[in-house]
Amino acid sequence: MLRVVKSKLKTFVGGIHPKDDGKSFTAGKKVVPASLPNKAYLFLNQHIGKPAQPIVQKGDTVKKGQLIAESQGFISANVHASISGKVVDIAPWPHPIAGVKLPAIIIERAEDDSWVEDIAAIPDIDHNISEAEIMHRIKSAGIVGLGGATFPTHVKLAPPKDKKIDMVVVNGAECEPYLTCDHRLMLENPYEIIQGLKWFMKCIGCNSAHIGIEGNKKDAYLLIKDTVSKESAIKVDLVEVKYPQGAEHQIIKALLGREFKPRQLPLEVGVTVINVSTAFAIYEAVKYGRPLIQRIITVSGNGIENPQNFFVRLGTPVKQLLEDAKVTGDINKIIFGGPMMGIAQGDIETAVTVKGIGGIIALRKARKWNSSACIRCGRCIDSCPYGLNPSELSVLSEAKNFDLMLESNVLECKECGCCSYICPSKRPIVHLIKFAKAEIAKQEVRA
Ligand code: SF4
Ligand code: SF4
Repeated sequence: MLRVVKSKLKTFVGGIHPKDDGKSFTAGKKVVPASLPNKAYLFLNQHIGKPAQPIVQKGDTVKKGQLIAESQGFISANVHASISGKVVDIAPWPHPIAGVKLPAIIIERAEDDSWVEDIAAIPDIDHNISEAEIMHRIKSAGIVGLGGATFPTHVKLAPPKDKKIDMVVVNGAECEPYLTCDHRLMLENPYEIIQGLKWFMKCIGCNSAHIGIEGNKKDAYLLIKDTVSKESAIKVDLVEVKYPQGAEHQIIKALLGREFKPRQLPLEVGVTVINVSTAFAIYEAVKYGRPLIQRIITVSGNGIENPQNFFVRLGTPVKQLLEDAKVTGDINKIIFGGPMMGIAQGDIETAVTVKGIGGIIALRKARKWNSSACIRCGRCIDSCPYGLNPSELSVLSEAKNFDLMLESNVLECKECGCCSYICPSKRPIVHLIKFAKAEIAKQEVRA
């Protein structure tokens, strides 16, 4: 059963919430390490921006945490070896998000799993570390936004001079169905998240932070609230349980009441947003000099016998994670990320994990819907958090009337999927909008 959420709390307009959001499969389970991959496939592009440049060659021996590809320019991020072993190839591999083959460094695992000497030698820092050193460690570690956006974190530390940031918003909403990796992290590492946040705030010169956690994670809320009880600069609040409560526009509106246009950045209203997993990665980087080589991934869905939250080395083949979680033999759909904005995978033999992926959902008997004509019910319009008319946009896309779509603000669509999800005619609205955006982009290149 689906319903448009009518919120009682001060929050955003629109959004949806599935009655059964699948979170109960893993919310009560502690994070466990996934088995180490025999081969790790590390893409040069696991972030928004320029792909990193390899600094190793086929045949080189590398150690866990070693820098293997350097960021190229400001909006780019380093890539490090997630296991120790030998570089057996640098070759194109199917990228699970881009949907095409992109270059990856492929490492075959050796027995030794100790950190590269440089990192092993970095002493614990004291809390008075300088802003410059915080910046250096975050940038060196190759940290990107782990809520899925994969924007290099060091870029957020250097906002344009004319934009004053007065608030860091921390996203602990985790509004996508099934995913509980952030929930578990908040329960198991609240101190580390808050300390990572404090270093981020110090580096950016911002004195206030506000953490938003969805109302279905009251245990995490209470724990984080307790952790910040002596920190007057950090507020924590429950936010409405609905999707996409964790999106930047929606969480800023819910917590601060500040609004900005769909195509603007939070900077416009004096805010920068980080995810709780990103704050944890900042802690690891600043305190221990550890690069981003692993993250928590929820492996769940009705095709999994033992759903889990795993600590996963980046580049681990998904097939291995599915086996770790006891996949059933009859799955017919694999989604990377949550079911709302995630990317369905065509080939699980080649699929591997990347920095931005917080969930792998394996489904059996996933229904294939036949779409029918729009019945003008208006539910998609009610659900769109950005005030668009998805019904009209989908019809215009079918008619290939891209000029009128531009006039109807198609580029403001965030592809959140609320409209497709709630449509009783099962119209592929997001697919039609994505198609139109790609055609508009092609026309702009040709012009
Ligand atoms: S996918 Fe686009 S049109 Fe549909 S609800 Fe989300 S923002 Fe609105
Ligand atoms: S596209 Fe679907 S949800 Fe939107 S008005 Fe038509 S039938 Fe209703």
